[in-house]
Amino acid sequence: MATSEELNEWDRHYLWHAFTQMAEHEPLIVERGEGCFLWDTDGKRYLDGVSSLWCNLHGHNHPQLNAAISGQLAKLAHATTLGMSNPPAIELARRLAQITPGDLEHVFYSCDGSSAVEVALKVCFQYWQQCDAPKPKKKKYLAFGNAYHGDTLGSTAVGGIQHFHEIFGPLLCEVVRVPSPDRRFGTTEEHLGKLGAVLAEQHETIAALVIEPLVQGAAGLLMQGEGYLRGVRELCTRYEVLMIADEIVTGFGRTGKLFACEHENVVPDLMCLGKSLTAGYLPMAATMVTSKVYEAFLGEYHEQRTFYHGHTFGGNPLAAAVALASIDLVEASKMLSEVLPPRIEQFCLRLQRLEQHPEIGRHLGDVRQLGLMAGVDLVADRENNIPYEAHQRVGYQVCKATTEAGVWLRPLGDVVVLIPPPVISEEELDLLFDALTQSLLKICVEIAVQPQA
Ligand SMILES: *Cc1c(COP(=O)(O)O)cnc(C)c1O
Repeated sequence: MATSEELNEWDRHYLWHAFTQMAEHEPLIVERGEGCFLWDTDGKRYLDGVSSLWCNLHGHNHPQLNAAISGQLAKLAHATTLGMSNPPAIELARRLAQITPGDLEHVFYSCDGSSAVEVALKVCFQYWQQCDAPKPKKKKYLAFGNAYHGDTLGSTAVGGIQHFHEIFGPLLCEVVRVPSPDRRFGTTEEHLGKLGAVLAEQHETIAALVIEPLVQGAAGLLMQGEGYLRGVRELCTRYEVLMIADEIVTGFGRTGKLFACEHENVVPDLMCLGKSLTAGYLPMAATMVTSKVYEAFLGEYHEQRTFYHGHTFGGNPLAAAVALASIDLVEASKMLSEVLPPRIEQFCLRLQRLEQHPEIGRHLGDVRQLGLMAGVDLVADRENNIPYEAHQRVGYQVCKATTEAGVWLRPLGDVVVLIPPPVISEEELDLLFDALTQSLLKICVEIAVQPQA
């Protein structure tokens, strides 16, 4: 067995981490999990304050989820879905069709969220080439400022976060960009007005619109106003633009409902699922499509209506088995009706207390929450709306201090992101906020009194 020191050294040298400046990478090596906690190789415990990057639902090392995987493992680890099928993949497809809104009836499997979005984009393009009333001029996508839909080239193209996506510009397909529907920068009517104007002018060339419903996650949990998503649905219908809802973050209860679209009674034409689909246990993603979309791909072999796209491990039986077990647990634990409501109430209360804290409050800008997701903007001066300077890396420092205190958080710039697993207990959620409060006191207050460089 390698020692912690060796693992640290090898991690720095061999393992190129996602979204990480490796020149200054500081390893945190976890080897064990239980419930909402993770343990590192030195035995130090961390509360998982961001659900292992927004995907854990029922806690780590859950006996029922483990049993689903080992039970399936004893039968079959993997078989292809090209030309054959397997029981968990079939049952999961049926289950997803039942629990997602409306007539999202058909499931295309992939292994990560980016690919699920990629599938949705390609399906929409091909749809307009070959549906009953083809509109072959529809070749572009409409996406929003600050959007994040993944890191493959198609999903990067629809992404709108400048410092992630700008450098790849020359590689990407053309996208019609509408400003972020952030509710701080316009009413629902104003945002819908902007979208409507763009659609009125360009709908003839737009195949699909892709949106993160209610919350733009990676941009810093930017929230949309009430009625916005419903308005988007109406506009998409009116202008014959397919609506892709990217529920990769918001799906499976994060927002307080099973899917964010349900808050607005919206049925998209396509829905992308990932992250929590397997409760954060195994890589799997899905693109759900309505019958209308699906049927455009049916025909005789020689008609060339087939969707020529696939992923080697799509529909993997181990992943499907744990996804099914997770959905069972969501239902059996009454996650939506009983587990989440008191936790969300406590979550809101603790966020309020942070904002009202005499010393910390001055360093919090906007504080946004939906369900068990929150984004907390750190600012040098709330009253005069002065941000910290980027080089101060305040978000990073606050989360580092919180992690040292035993609560793992990962920021987005100067936004502290809180996305605890829905199963977090009252005591654990208090622990999270207590640790965060202490590090905010330490970092924000300290930095504020330092002379500016
Ligand atoms: C994480 C995420 C993706 C990409 O999923 P990966 O599994 O990381 O490829 C896509 N869309 C949204 C909204 C996400 O948050």
